[in-house]
Amino acid sequence: MAKYKHIVVPPGGKPITVKNKKLSIPDNPIIPVIEGDGIGRDIMKATRRVVDAAVEKSYQGKKRIAWMDVYAGERANDLYGEWLPKETVAAIKSHYVALKGPLTTPIGGGFRSLNVTMRQVMNLYACVRPVRWFRGVGSPVVHPEKLNVIIFRENTEDVYAGIEWRKGTKEVKKVITWLNKTMKTKIRADSGVGIKPISVTGTKRLVRKAINYALDRKRSSVTLVHKGNIMKYTEGAFRDWGYEVAKKEFRSKIVTEDELWSKHNGQMPAGKILIKDRIADSMFQQVLTRSDEYDVLATPNLNGDYLSDACAAQVGGLGMAPGANIGDYIGLFEATHGTAPKYADKDVINPGSLILSAVMMLEYLGWDEAAAMIEGAVQKTIDNKTVTYDLERQMEGATKIGTSQYATNIIANMA
Ligand code: NAP
Repeated sequence: MAKYKHIVVPPGGKPITVKNKKLSIPDNPIIPVIEGDGIGRDIMKATRRVVDAAVEKSYQGKKRIAWMDVYAGERANDLYGEWLPKETVAAIKSHYVALKGPLTTPIGGGFRSLNVTMRQVMNLYACVRPVRWFRGVGSPVVHPEKLNVIIFRENTEDVYAGIEWRKGTKEVKKVITWLNKTMKTKIRADSGVGIKPISVTGTKRLVRKAINYALDRKRSSVTLVHKGNIMKYTEGAFRDWGYEVAKKEFRSKIVTEDELWSKHNGQMPAGKILIKDRIADSMFQQVLTRSDEYDVLATPNLNGDYLSDACAAQVGGLGMAPGANIGDYIGLFEATHGTAPKYADKDVINPGSLILSAVMMLEYLGWDEAAAMIEGAVQKTIDNKTVTYDLERQMEGATKIGTSQYATNIIANMA
C-alpha cells in the first residue's frame, strides 16, 4: 500500500486492479474523490449520499464504495502548498476510477488549467459526454426527447495540443518564414499561427473506444463528425482512420452507411452497428432537426467541444450535463460545469450533473442496477416538480428546493 502524506486510505476498501486487460472491480472498491472548489463542496456531499444510498439499496450491503478523499485545487493548495500534488495523481492512477468536483483554475499557477493538466498527465484521451433529456425539464427545442447521444471527443490533440505562436514574436516569424519559403505557403507576416495535429494513434484509440461502447451498451450507430471537406489531412483523415478501425477491427459487427445501401437495401441487419460520418456544420443542423437518427458520436477535439455544449443546451443546460475523461483504464468522472463561486456553500445549486457523472461511473464499474436506480429517482424527482432553482425557473408550477433537500428527495424516490 502506498504511503501518502495527507491521503488516508479507507479501511475495509480494496483497490481496483487490471487483470487480462480488463478492470477487476472488488465489491468494496476504493474510489478516490476530489471534492472540488466552490459549489464542489455542495454537490459532492449530495452526490456521495445519493450514490451510497443507491448502492446500498441495489446490493443490500454486498457492495459498497470506500471513498478516499484526495486533494486538488484550493484545498490542496492549503494542505500541500501546491494545486495538484503528485500523490493525488498517483492515487488516481493506481486506483483507476475517480470522481471529481469542479476546480478553480489558479491565476498565475503556471499551467493553463488544472482540469486540462489532469487529463494530460493521466492520458485521459476520451472526453465522454452523454446528452439525454429528462421528462419535464425546460428546453428551447420542441422535441428534446428525441436527443439521446453520447459524445466521444478526442481530448489530447487538435486545438488541445495547444501549439501556437503569438503575432510578431521571433518564433512566429521563424515559423512563417519557414512555411512560406519551404512549403510555398502565403501566410501574412502579421499572423498568429496555430498547429492542429491529428494522429492515427489519437484517432484510432478514440474511435475504437466509441465503437466498443456502442457494442457494450447495444447502441445503434457511431457517427464520425469531421470537417474533412476543408481540412483533408487532419479532419478528413480522422474520418478515414475511423472507418479503418471500424472495418479492420470490428468487421463482423458493423455496417457502413455505404454498405447499408449497396448490400442491405437500406435495411439495417439485426445486432450490428451502423458507422456513418457527417461534416461538422451539417451535424449541428442534424442534432436539431433529425436528432433521433444519432446515437454515439466520435469527434476530434474542437468539433466535440462545440457540439457537446450545443447538445447540452437542448436538454436543460449545465445542471444536467455529466461527463467523464477516460483513458485505457483510468476513468475520471466529473460534471462539465465549473465552480460557480457565487453559489458556493449556499446549498442551492443543482447537483444533477455530478450525480449523473456518478451514474456513468457506476456503469463503468458494471454496477448498472445502482446506476439505473439513480436515473429513475432523478426522473421521479423532476416529475414531482421539486427541483433546484435552475430547473424551477424553466418549469411551470415547480417548487424550488436546495441542494441537500434535492438529494434527500432523490434518495426517497429510489425504487
Ligand atoms: P461555471 O462555474 O460553470 O458557472 C457558470 C454558470 O453556469 C453559473 O453561474 C450558473 O448559471 C450555471 N451553473 C454552473 N453549474 C451549475 C449547476 N450545477 N447547476 C445549475 N447551474 C449551474 O463557470 P464560470 O463561472 O465561468 O467558472 C468558474 C470557475 O470554474 C473558473 O475558475 C473556471 O476555471 C472553473 N471551471 C472548472 C471546470 C472544471 O473543473 N471541469 C470547468 C469549467 C470551469 P446561473 O447563474 O445562470 O444560474
